[in-house]
Amino acid sequence: MCKSLCRALSGRRFALSQHILRVTLVVLAAAACAVVAVVYACDTKAAPPDHCHSNASPGLSAVSSFIPAGSAQWTARPASLRTAALFSQLQADLTVHVFAAPTLRLEVNDRTDWQATAHDDGLVELSAGLDTAWDLTDDELYAIMAHESFHVVHRDGEFRACGFDLQDRRVQQTLQAQELAADRAAQDLLARVGRPVDALQTALRRLQAREPVAENRGTHPSTQARVAALAAVQVLRP
Ligand SMILES: [Zn+2]
Repeated sequence: MCKSLCRALSGRRFALSQHILRVTLVVLAAAACAVVAVVYACDTKAAPPDHCHSNASPGLSAVSSFIPAGSAQWTARPASLRTAALFSQLQADLTVHVFAAPTLRLEVNDRTDWQATAHDDGLVELSAGLDTAWDLTDDELYAIMAHESFHVVHRDGEFRACGFDLQDRRVQQTLQAQELAADRAAQDLLARVGRPVDALQTALRRLQAREPVAENRGTHPSTQARVAALAAVQVLRP
């Protein structure tokens, strides 16, 4: 009688401890899920909202731009034969040397100063002044358009389209990093296609001499810094 009672009690105790163990596991699993959810929420909170990824938003990422994003109000003009031919060659070169190269198109606006701007939808916009800048060599104009093209390849305009405060130092650091990355990619392309590797460096110097005000916005590194960064890479990979 006593034995069977003890057996029954110990069986019940065993079942009870199994139940406690199961409940504990469930509680621990729930706690782990909660922690993961909080971490994920924190991660996603830092990411830009969906509208920041719209291709329709123009991304201003110019070699020497000081035009506010989205302010382009102009009628496209035909590009000069030289610019059109160089752009066509650039598109062909990108197709060969860049994985999944985007399809680009070229438009020339009616500004007389030297401006080049990339838009995320593949538009590379040149000012009429730059289109007819005969004191730039073919390689230098190619290099400028290559720089803009890599802003499209890197989808840099998406960041600008989010409307962050351009005076924020961290935002400026990101934009400046984008510039240096586009510079470096353009210089790499110059080397791959057998053009003078320093063509972007000399183009930047000419742009700076022509449009010095472009340096004052904090969104671009100084021309001196850009040229120095390019020259350092060139030394590493002559
Ligand atoms: Zn740029």
